[in-house]
Amino acid sequence: MSSRSDKSDIRWSLVAHGGAGAIARGDLGPGQDAAYREAMSAAARTGGAILSAGGSAMDAVEAAVRVLEDDPLFNAGRGAAFTAEGGNELDAAVMDGATLAAGAVAGLTTTRHPISAARAVIEGSNHVLLVGEGADAFARSRGLEQADPAWFFTERRWRSLERALDRAGLPRPQRPAGAQDATQGALVHEEGKYGTVGVVACDAGGNVAAGTSTGGTNAKRWGRVGDSPLIGAGTYAANAAGAVSCTGEGEYFIRLGVAHRICALVEYAGLSLQAAADRVVQDELTALGGAGGIVAVGADGRMAWSFNTSGMYRARIADGVPLTVGIYKDED
Ligand code: ASP
Repeated sequence: MSSRSDKSDIRWSLVAHGGAGAIARGDLGPGQDAAYREAMSAAARTGGAILSAGGSAMDAVEAAVRVLEDDPLFNAGRGAAFTAEGGNELDAAVMDGATLAAGAVAGLTTTRHPISAARAVIEGSNHVLLVGEGADAFARSRGLEQADPAWFFTERRWRSLERALDRAGLPRPQRPAGAQDATQGALVHEEGKYGTVGVVACDAGGNVAAGTSTGGTNAKRWGRVGDSPLIGAGTYAANAAGAVSCTGEGEYFIRLGVAHRICALVEYAGLSLQAAADRVVQDELTALGGAGGIVAVGADGRMAWSFNTSGMYRARIADGVPLTVGIYKDED
């Protein structure tokens, strides 16, 4: 499944995803369907407002991802998947296509907005990727809001963890102290293991940026880190090609270097963004046995998405192009 905008005279554009996975028509009740569409619209509008006011792609990406991180419907920030030990370990990355500056964090446990921690890595350190307690300490030192484990808790994700542990014959951990279902927990759809969020944007100056944020995979163990915070795998941006954010089985995206691979096909092989995305997702990722999808923008404002799962929560908005929101495969 793929879609594109055929406009090339777009001044600014933004595409967001809220995770790809087993999301077939009929899986979501009307309330869930509406809640996901509303949440994707809210994120796209937030980023779009910044771009239409002349703001930068980096600012639009960060702001839109923060909206999705705070929404318990998605596996990022509040609503993140749980580790086998019953904690939340949050990963995020952001990349500026104008300068190739990149920042990423993995295994955060207390920082409310991992995407802002990733951006702070660019602005406040000489590094690209920080992990674990050091990354949370860095975020604190940059004045980023910290949250209690109960903030990230949702009942639905906790039940998914229990089911996964039961299937694997692993012990169930204790519920985090003070854990209470976040407001919209009942609307959360169990879309499988995924649910990462990501946003790509092109601003009026022709600069692109990509950001991705995730709780990772349900019941992950041993400090597992997926593709989302790995520059080139789950997140990549370069003005010469475009910006890409991925969602899906991270282990496959890492092996293919999906985000960079799509950009390389555009830059070196001259493929259109959509053709490059389809080749990597529909052909190569599928052949390797991986499931998931991507959203992308080019520095000319063109937008693309591609996924090989039954659904992907997604939205796109651009200068002069109305907001489009999709969930299932058969939607534009
Ligand atoms: N790609 C993410 C990971 O492997 C998961 C997801 O997209 O939901 O951590």
